[in-house]
Amino acid sequence: MTGRTHDAIAFASLITVAAINPPESLNIATATAAVVGNIIGATLPDVDQSTNRLWDFLPGRDYVGKLLKPLFLGHRNLTHSFLGVFIVYHLLGIVLPKVLNPQYVNYEIVYAAMMIGYISHLFGDAITKEGLPLLFPLKLRFGFPPISAFRITTGKWIENIIILPGTAAYIFWFIGNHHGEFVRLLKLISEG
Ligand SMILES: [Zn+2]
Repeated sequence: MTGRTHDAIAFASLITVAAINPPESLNIATATAAVVGNIIGATLPDVDQSTNRLWDFLPGRDYVGKLLKPLFLGHRNLTHSFLGVFIVYHLLGIVLPKVLNPQYVNYEIVYAAMMIGYISHLFGDAITKEGLPLLFPLKLRFGFPPISAFRITTGKWIENIIILPGTAAYIFWFIGNHHGEFVRLLKLISEG
């Protein structure tokens, strides 16, 4: 799946969880960090590709990407597995409290938003032909539907004409259907 489809699915997942399981308090800094973190989380699993957008922030990005590639044990392997989720979960749990100032940002909300982004990425890739090596280092690949011939090809018309607009439509529909929850969230933010 392409980056923007992953972003859209991650955001749709984030607002769904936020409406169903709203935080007790939310300030503007945390809300902003959560949305940005959600997109970063959705981008992280493909960090093993030298073309990953996260590398764009680094000087000599193509070189750095290629250099680090062996670390991820090949494309769509470690980062798209349960082991990868486990490692990222623990790494973020260590890093986030250190980089986010607790005076301004509730790191637990950002942490949850990043993991939602990460896991939504795996759900998105599960419907593509390549499937997911969930049990990596075992080579077995999983997907939905189980027969790969019924799954979609990344960047092709089903993704661009159905999945991406469908996700956007879902976001509008969901916000419209849960506007009470979103008004409450905005109130929380305005109260800080
Ligand atoms: Zn991926």
